[in-house]
Amino acid sequence: MRIAVVGAGIIGACTALALARRGHAVKLIERGQPMQETSSASSKLLHGGLRYLETGHFGLVRKSLLARRAWLEQAPHLCHPLELMIPIYRGQGRPKWMLGAGVRLYDWLSTGSGFPESRWIPAAELKSIRPDLKQEGLLGAYAYHDAQMDDLALGEWVVRQATELGVELETDREIHQLEELDEFDRIVNACGPWAMNLRSQQPGTPAYRLDWVRGSHLIIDRLCPTALFLQVPDEKRIFFVLPYKKKMLVGTTEIRQECPDNAGANEKEIDYLLRAINACLSPGVSRAEIAESFSGVRPLIKGNQNASAASREWAFERVGKVTHIYGGKWTTAQIQAEESVKWILQ
Ligand SMILES: Cc1cc2nc3c(=O)[nH]c(=O)nc-3n(C[C@H](O)[C@H](O)[C@H](O)COP(=O)(O)OP(=O)(O)OC[C@H]3O[C@@H](n4cnc5c(N)ncnc54)[C@H](O)[C@@H]3O)c2cc1C
Repeated sequence: MRIAVVGAGIIGACTALALARRGHAVKLIERGQPMQETSSASSKLLHGGLRYLETGHFGLVRKSLLARRAWLEQAPHLCHPLELMIPIYRGQGRPKWMLGAGVRLYDWLSTGSGFPESRWIPAAELKSIRPDLKQEGLLGAYAYHDAQMDDLALGEWVVRQATELGVELETDREIHQLEELDEFDRIVNACGPWAMNLRSQQPGTPAYRLDWVRGSHLIIDRLCPTALFLQVPDEKRIFFVLPYKKKMLVGTTEIRQECPDNAGANEKEIDYLLRAINACLSPGVSRAEIAESFSGVRPLIKGNQNASAASREWAFERVGKVTHIYGGKWTTAQIQAEESVKWILQ
């Protein structure tokens, strides 16, 4: 079949590749350059999502942990295992027993993925590894493994795999109307946060709707010896402090938006992230050390007609010859793409 995939973020790129592997004639159409939006503004983690254990999404975590391994096997030059430490303080944040149980469950769900098991690091050892962590009440840290990627480079690698298999990439072309693609047998809407723009051109109420939640990161001009999984003081939210390209990556925020367009990190978000990190590190980070900030908009599914959709990471809807893709994560993009194929080809 002749299939047009609109949107060359990681979801569109993996979908185009999955279709090309089955011998279809695929055109991947992107209004700018591949990976220019959400897919290059992530936290750069290929992860199962330790925090999803708290909400009981065990199946999704297991799937993501296996997906994490697949990326490492396919492109070891663009991603690597990363040990993350969760410092535990007396009387603050989630209790030690809960985090201990969480990392052990994560180990168990990772069985067969080839990653080292979690470990406990006593306070004295932790101090020598991260002398910049605030020491008062510090009991030690649990350390567990996930993986880190260069999201832009890994995404571009996927696009290259696709074009080498015959996918035709057309950049700098925005699809305004689905009719522009009438010549194709199938159309795939992989516009990420902008998916509703194409869906709204078709009849009927969309089966799913999106919540647009912006996430911002700071890149701090400072070396970061290890990755940290930290809790925002006085909140349940967690944030990451990660080594990235010889700098320190801090994020993220969650700001609900009324539209999919990315407004960039605002002053409030920058202050929020600085406050969070300065509650954990000493010496603290000054504004002058911020090398850069970047943001992306999460295309999260909100429950509409289908109440269970609210807890799903991704979903598909077929209207005529158009398959609409909603939601998704970077880590699981290849699994999502495989699942999308049966919707597209039916
Ligand atoms: C702050 C943040 C942190 C994250 N961290 C992680 C993480 O660490 N690990 C993880 O697994 N996931 C993470 N995610 C989730 C992940 O990044 C996204 O789910 C994923 O990148 C979405 O990819 P996408 O292809 O759907 O969207 P996008 O990357 O936004 O791609 C959509 C593409 O469609 C194009 N487009 C839109 N409309 C049109 C049109 N009409 N015509 C042509 N082209 C069009 C856009 O230009 C864009 O390139 C994070 C997300 C955010 C926001």
